[in-house]
Amino acid sequence: MEAHSSVVRVFVRIRPTANFSHDVIECLPDGQTVNIHHRKDSRKPQDKNQLRNHSFRLEGVLQGVSQEELYARVCRQVVLGALDGYNGTVMCFGQTGSGKTYTMTGSTESYKQRGVIPRALQEVFREVDKRTEHVFSVHLSYLEIYNETLVDLLSSLQGSPSPSPRGMAVIEEAGRGVFIRGLSLHPVHNEEEALNLLFEGELNHIIGSHALNRNSSRSHSIFTVHIESRLRTLSDAKYVTSKLNLVDLAGSERLGKTGSEGQMFKEAMYINKSLSFLEQAIRALADRRREHVPFRQTKLTHALKDSLGGNCNTVLVANIYGEAAHIEETLSTLRFASRMKCVRTNPAVNEH
Ligand code: ADP
Repeated sequence: MEAHSSVVRVFVRIRPTANFSHDVIECLPDGQTVNIHHRKDSRKPQDKNQLRNHSFRLEGVLQGVSQEELYARVCRQVVLGALDGYNGTVMCFGQTGSGKTYTMTGSTESYKQRGVIPRALQEVFREVDKRTEHVFSVHLSYLEIYNETLVDLLSSLQGSPSPSPRGMAVIEEAGRGVFIRGLSLHPVHNEEEALNLLFEGELNHIIGSHALNRNSSRSHSIFTVHIESRLRTLSDAKYVTSKLNLVDLAGSERLGKTGSEGQMFKEAMYINKSLSFLEQAIRALADRRREHVPFRQTKLTHALKDSLGGNCNTVLVANIYGEAAHIEETLSTLRFASRMKCVRTNPAVNEH
């Protein structure tokens, strides 16, 4: 089927806090523009305390939106596309504490606050039940990238068809895109089974972090829903496949600058490296220099190769704090978000 070119859709979500800095962060009534009024603390006397204004226009600036509304605006279209055979990626980017995990997974405290992943799983199975003319098969995988090591968060489960010890998965490129060899794939037949696997993976993520004495926001995680379908009436019908990647990136703050030591320094170095290669890849893609994109330089960009400029409907949520104290990181997140909206992808149905 013919590919059509599409842009990466980019949203900003502002974490609600008690001290929202209205004088520094201004959200325009169009719902798409955020202006930052930033007093730069420069060493040059002539620049001292000079007010700088920056304006960012994106598909949506989400302030005070519920989890339900966020899912509907950001994610639903990508999930429905995945059921039709288009690859999809939803990823969250921003500094630690800005709301990435709240956006992707949500809060365990209430059902209303569940995030994008459980809502996507609910929608997938609701549609599978509705689309009775098709036979669907759904599998899940959950990958963590920590210090350039690929970790299978579902490898310890019984019945896993290809169990992979922690850190043994390898990224490969097949004709139809990136493929992670050694990552276990788990068949799921309903929402409940899928949610159980999600929670199992979350638990492994937390237990792994504690065992290694590290902060769970120091790794990237990619939860993937693998969907296959064919028409029920024709036994020799072509089948379509898609991958829906739901990505929670590691905190984007530049820890290296704060003089961290030992393990924290190593983690910061790997995160800085992977996020700066992600930025370089985005810059090259935004400048249409696809042949020079350094996808293989880090595991993150290699694993996300299809999502960035490939065959995929891609959405980015840039998570920011609404407080002046975090303004430097907020600006860096918004600059990244702006570059991302210039990236074009080529979604096409994967028919076999
Ligand atoms: P990150 O994953 O970016 O490090 P978290 O998602 O863990 O950040 O968010 C930090 C804290 O802020 C959590 O307690 C989370 O519940 C809360 N939080 C973040 N965003 C929101 C939001 N939009 N509404 C309510 N609480 C939020």
